[in-house]
Amino acid sequence: MGHVTLVGAGPGDPGLLTVKGRQAILDADVVVYDRLVGPEILALMPPKAECIDVGKRSCHHPVPQWRINEILLEKAKEGKRVVRLKGGDCFLFGRGGEELELLAENGVDFTVIPGVTSALAVPAYAGIPVTHRAFASSVHIITGHAKAGGELDLDFDALVRHKGTLVFLMGVSSAPMILAGLQQAGMSADMPAAMVERGTLPGQCKVVATVGTLAQAMQEAGISSPAVLIVGAVCALSDAFDWYDKLPLHGATVAVTRPRQRAGTLTHRLRELGADVISYPCIETETIWPNMPVVEALAAIEQYHWLVLTSPAGVEVLVQLLRAADMDMRSLAHMKVAVIGAGTAKKLEEHGLRADYIPAVYDSAHLAEGLIRLVQEGERVLMLRAEIGAPELPELLAQACVSFDDVPVYRTLYRSGRSEEMAQLLADGAIDYVTFTSASTVHGFVNSLPEGTELTGFLALCIGPSTEKAAKAAGMRTITAAHATIEAMLTTLQEEYHR
Ligand code: SAH
Repeated sequence: MGHVTLVGAGPGDPGLLTVKGRQAILDADVVVYDRLVGPEILALMPPKAECIDVGKRSCHHPVPQWRINEILLEKAKEGKRVVRLKGGDCFLFGRGGEELELLAENGVDFTVIPGVTSALAVPAYAGIPVTHRAFASSVHIITGHAKAGGELDLDFDALVRHKGTLVFLMGVSSAPMILAGLQQAGMSADMPAAMVERGTLPGQCKVVATVGTLAQAMQEAGISSPAVLIVGAVCALSDAFDWYDKLPLHGATVAVTRPRQRAGTLTHRLRELGADVISYPCIETETIWPNMPVVEALAAIEQYHWLVLTSPAGVEVLVQLLRAADMDMRSLAHMKVAVIGAGTAKKLEEHGLRADYIPAVYDSAHLAEGLIRLVQEGERVLMLRAEIGAPELPELLAQACVSFDDVPVYRTLYRSGRSEEMAQLLADGAIDYVTFTSASTVHGFVNSLPEGTELTGFLALCIGPSTEKAAKAAGMRTITAAHATIEAMLTTLQEEYHR
């Protein structure tokens, strides 16, 4: 017999998934998920896991609740570790209880991992503390879902009498009725009230008004589901306590083209700064194997004095190659190591090696200049690089009569297929910036789009001059970081965004 874990995925911001919930997803054989669970959390699902989308849309239930209950039971009976992933908290208006009933009746073991509920997190991201000693000493979470026939079964008198903060979920279409009901029960038309759509997500949109004016204001703002309605004096704090909408890149949509395994830091930092990040990996690296030249070079490693690495991917491949040759970093102890930039140096340090030389400017010309200066007469250089690496490096070394072997150890693969979806986003003007961390990401990006796609509707954020050159050649408008680092890219982006 398997096991079912109910996991609350949080309200949208992927960082609000709990540590325990994340682990359950990573360990799952089957994940059964809903509409409100975002792509970054779904991306945690192990590749071998079976993913079942039972997403419900308003007025339209593709998979009925009784069937979801059955799926959980069936999969558990197959001996699987099943995760039932739900938006927000799994019990709060989440029908988690109904799902457990059938499991309990059939003696299936289950675990419940509560989630961060939108009822509390969405107000928090809108700068609204749900209780505050000066304004409200209780908070009430209420469903605004109307019964068939459009009727609301709410005791408005009781809600008004409690004087607490009222948080309504599923209340977008019934909001006018709720606000009118509260006023009829004696609530002042001046009581502050707010509606927050897509809370905790980059597209968060909030409307703050009063119980008397909110219905009109939310209609003007075009608020749609999912949204939370908050009523109470605490809503008046929303401007003073606003923090999420004030993040420096709030409102900017940025596509990240780095390979998936290397996009982490950039994506994370962009999100921290409030940007809406679209992950669109355009290249991947593949180790060249079998690879006789590299086997020979490693077998004769004693005859080399310098090792040159020009990308973090190169470092990773080096580690793999050493392992395959039954060697380790100690075999490099006699060598000096030169790298192209800080990213490569950092990756190297993760493996316990410090770079002896990093050029002041992170590009091949400066790396070549440094090597020419440092490599002594009679010393030999081993460069482990991409199959199609920048030609300047070997050219300049050869001109200066530095003796070297340039051994390709990995190749760059472009994203396969042409993405109509990305082309559409570009055509709609939905992407403000596309980040490029190498010329190959530019080529990969262009290659991933249908021919003739217009490339002038966004700004290409480039890490350095050679990337900029490639982007310009492809017809893009560019901005370029002052130094070839992720932090410098982010600084340039923020300066540009605030202009
Ligand atoms: N179990 C969920 C609630 C499910 S009911 C939880 O604990 O959050 C679905 C309702 O939740 C939506 O109609 C909306 O009112 C609210 N909701 C969920 N995510 C939201 C979000 N990101 N922004 C605003 N409201 C959200």
